[in-house]
Amino acid sequence: MSSNNTGPQHTTAHHVLSTETFTCIRCGLTVPALAPDGPRRNHCPSCLHSRHVLDHVEGGASTCGSRMSPISIAVLRTGDWMLIHRCVGCDELTSNPVCRDDNQLILMRMAVRPLAEPPFPLEAFGSL
Ligand SMILES: [Zn+2]
Ligand SMILES: [Zn+2]
Repeated sequence: MSSNNTGPQHTTAHHVLSTETFTCIRCGLTVPALAPDGPRRNHCPSCLHSRHVLDHVEGGASTCGSRMSPISIAVLRTGDWMLIHRCVGCDELTSNPVCRDDNQLILMRMAVRPLAEPPFPLEAFGSL
């Protein structure tokens, strides 16, 4: 037992407002519950997966607990990007604000997917 508190201590060097974290259900990353720019986050910044713990229809806690996959990007009138998740367990759709440190590669891939795979032939544009 030591009372010396001036020496180096083996604690984490993170300066987060909240010590609350959650473990990503897909990649196992430990994620701070608060994003760097403030808002509370519910998805992993690395793989963007989430977990179905809130019931967005009832407004309370959900007993589902299944993995929620990022399926799409929605852009609000304000220009803010929203991440659309679908629960693999119960198919519920949710939308959550994109955080500044979210994986931009995955975000861009989802954003351009409709352009890369249009439901109509693009050849029509070439003959105009
Ligand atoms: Zn993850
Ligand atoms: Zn669910």
